[in-house]
Amino acid sequence: MSKNQQFVRFDKVDKSYDGKVLVVKDLNLDIAEGEFVTMLGPSGSGKTTCLMMLAGFETPTNGEIYLDKNPISNIPPHKRGIGMVFQNYALFPHMTVYENLAFPLRVRKTSKEDIDKKVDKALSMVSLSGFENRMPGQLSGGQQQRVAVARALVFDPQVVLMDEPLGALDKNLRESMQYEIKHIHESIGVTVVYVTHDQGEALTMSNRIAVFNDGKVQQLSSPDKLYEEPVNSFVAEFIGENNTFSGEVSDISNGKCKVKLDSGTEIMANPIRVKSKGEKTIVSLRPERAIIDPQKGMDNNHKGKIEEVIYHGDHTRVRLDLLGNKEFILKVPNSSARMDIKVGNQINVGWNSQDSRALDPK
Ligand code: ADP
Ligand code: MG
Repeated sequence: MSKNQQFVRFDKVDKSYDGKVLVVKDLNLDIAEGEFVTMLGPSGSGKTTCLMMLAGFETPTNGEIYLDKNPISNIPPHKRGIGMVFQNYALFPHMTVYENLAFPLRVRKTSKEDIDKKVDKALSMVSLSGFENRMPGQLSGGQQQRVAVARALVFDPQVVLMDEPLGALDKNLRESMQYEIKHIHESIGVTVVYVTHDQGEALTMSNRIAVFNDGKVQQLSSPDKLYEEPVNSFVAEFIGENNTFSGEVSDISNGKCKVKLDSGTEIMANPIRVKSKGEKTIVSLRPERAIIDPQKGMDNNHKGKIEEVIYHGDHTRVRLDLLGNKEFILKVPNSSARMDIKVGNQINVGWNSQDSRALDPK
């Protein structure tokens, strides 16, 4: 049987807490069965509110949420079959690991025999077999969070919600937990809705990412599409590093456009979100797509002055004053170290117009 492509469905959902300001605006989002979808966005953009509505702790002001084709407005949280892991959703401190995991099963009237089996299975999934009798206080932060993941999975939920679950962990532990959660998702195929403000985390873990800003989904795409084809300058700047130029479209034809920059120079760009001459635009270029001394055939070739050189181990970051952008960043691999990369020098910088994307100035 084919999978339900609308396993979780937000249909025209608005949310206001005060009856005036909408903190979620006209949310339309379909999540397929077994998919890992991340809501990514800055603080206050409405991500947690969306999870709370899906979990049943908040009610949409307008619209409806469906779970496996059924509207869920009238179903209480504990009957929605949803597991949850939150940054501050602590374990019960006075209960052993076993009792913490047994809790959601007892609520569901599971037999003692099944509880033992399910707790066993969930603990082995997070590599904590043998930890049944520990108290949470006897575990490291990472182990506690793994128990929290196991507790969210132990009753075979239809959907698991995770709200910044790794936010309290240090960088190394956070990265290894990202892979661990991703592998668990791959092995059991449960539908996951994940929330983070960390773009690296979202890119690593997700099948698709919904980028939130100001209560609205700006773009919903696979990680590579989001990185390569951001729909507007908010998404471009939120995902990865960018050099930007603002200007106006002065010509557009054959899948290319000319943009007259505020500094007066014209550059060639890829018209992703502009259609006609005269439109204002922000042109966005990834640092790794610009090179020094471009070969003939590259349709952008401009002179810039080196402002700063920072050694980074495997590459050197060069900050340039280029076409009025004094923060233009270039990454030079250290295998091709050059003598002329010095503050004050002029260098030629080039890129293909295809890589400089003319976007909405939002
Ligand atoms: P995020 O998770 O993306 O940081 P939230 O969903 O927590 O965003 O918040 C979105 C907006 O709604 C913010 O402006 C926040 O202040 C407001 N908000 C969140 N929860 C409540 C609440 N319980 N009561 C009133 N306002 C809230
Ligand atoms: Mg939040």
